Amino acid sequence: MSYVYDDQNIFARILRGEIPNKTVLETGHSLAFEDIAPQAPHHVLVIPKGRYVNYDHFALEATEAEIVDFTRTIGAVCKMLGVQPSRDGQGYRLISNCGAHGVQEVPHLHVHILGGRVLGRMLQ
Ligand code: 5GP
Repeated sequence: MSYVYDDQNIFARILRGEIPNKTVLETGHSLAFEDIAPQAPHHVLVIPKGRYVNYDHFALEATEAEIVDFTRTIGAVCKMLGVQPSRDGQGYRLISNCGAHGVQEVPHLHVHILGGRVLGRMLQ
């Protein structure tokens, strides 16, 4: 399986500093920033800095350091937003749309963190 990464996608341009973003957290391997069209009071996107198209690409080809950093960055952002259910932050939702059936708009792996309100059921 080979993955074709488009260096002109919007998130690649954000990572190169060509498009501004509202950064929430930046680490060695990851960047978290506010979604431009928020679907909830909290809507943050977390992306790896590496050139990964989607989750399976990342899971198969990223280094362990990148995977750990990405996972911990998602957790750190949840903590920063104060949405942790273990802290009575009422919880949150993680979404990663992958490919055509996932209706992925931007072809650079990203996880949406949504919170700040009751989000409604997605799966019945
Ligand atoms: P997808 O459908 O690929 O999972 O979601 C892509 C997300 O990227 C959407 O929620 C959209 O609002 C967000 N987005 C698209 N362009 C930009 C941009 O230029 N800046 C930011 N911050 N978010 C963007």
